[in-house]
Amino acid sequence: MDLLNTLVDKGLRREAPTRDEALAVLATTDDQLLDVVAAAGKVRRQWFGRRVKLNYLVNLKSGLCPEDCSYCSQRLGSKAGILKYTWLKPGEAADAASAGVAGGAKRVCLVASGRGPTDRDVDRVSETIAAIRERHADVEVCACLGLLGEGQAERLREAGTDAYNHNLNTSEATYRDICTTHEFGDRVSTVERAKAAGMSACSGIIAGMGESDEDLVDVVFALRALDPDSVPVNFLIPFEGTPLAGTWELTPRRALRILAMVRFVCPDAEVRLSGGRELHLRSLQPLALHIVNSIFLGDYLTSEGQAGQADLDMIADAGFEVEGAETTTLPEHRARDLVAVRRRGAGTELPPNA
Ligand code: SF4
Repeated sequence: MDLLNTLVDKGLRREAPTRDEALAVLATTDDQLLDVVAAAGKVRRQWFGRRVKLNYLVNLKSGLCPEDCSYCSQRLGSKAGILKYTWLKPGEAADAASAGVAGGAKRVCLVASGRGPTDRDVDRVSETIAAIRERHADVEVCACLGLLGEGQAERLREAGTDAYNHNLNTSEATYRDICTTHEFGDRVSTVERAKAAGMSACSGIIAGMGESDEDLVDVVFALRALDPDSVPVNFLIPFEGTPLAGTWELTPRRALRILAMVRFVCPDAEVRLSGGRELHLRSLQPLALHIVNSIFLGDYLTSEGQAGQADLDMIADAGFEVEGAETTTLPEHRARDLVAVRRRGAGTELPPNA
């Protein structure tokens, strides 16, 4: 297909496809699906070889959120029967992180429910990072604490946070349909704050919430504009007790097309297969490894994933290899970008770091 040749050429040059090309990926037929996966695989292998990075989630604080994100089992008024607890102590969080590291994870993602952290919460997370680093000096630490206030990104960076996750989730045009307590622009601002503070930005999507192809392409192009280093692609887990319960819109083939579209739009970013992969890709999960270069190992925030050993077996069976701690995930040109270019103080509208 001319379309796929064009997309591969552009992906190898780190060039964006057009909107129409991205939409055309989502509109491919089942007969074309393996060609789409193979084309995305060429781009994936150019930037990440056959490596798969493993990431491990630690839910520091679960449930009882005052926000109303309709896809979330931890939202205001959620009736989902999930675990609810307040902040894990640093030692408890380090124990959880150690389990992931022992399973092969090179990044630990510290997540807390809520609109955003208080300054005391930033202290707590800083203590937790110190406890994790005491045991695992080289592990990458990502924080996901919601909307960041003034100065909080800088404090997290100083505490040793390597990356900050805040997903855009869906298009700006449909954001109001999934959340009324904060706006798309608030999320964009937090990703920008994290980057400005020198953290590696992680921001992605949730597919399967009633969005159109245009919405999916819009949000992925919005991500490309923000240029995150990692892009998690979640597929809705429709928890009972949430407004999106019973929403089953995806097929395994559509999930693969969505992943391929994200790969073509963000060719050299760490595209991470995230929540809902077992539910929606089902027996096609191994094909997704030809497109993504990163997955979460084990369980998600409030639901259980397949056994960690099953993930490792799947990676080996499909002919991929788990990325070791000594390997830099990102391609050289992007890894260099992790050096924090100053975007505060003299010459900017932000206060200096002093
Ligand atoms: S802010 Fe986070 S934890 Fe709270 S409802 Fe939204 S997604 Fe869930």
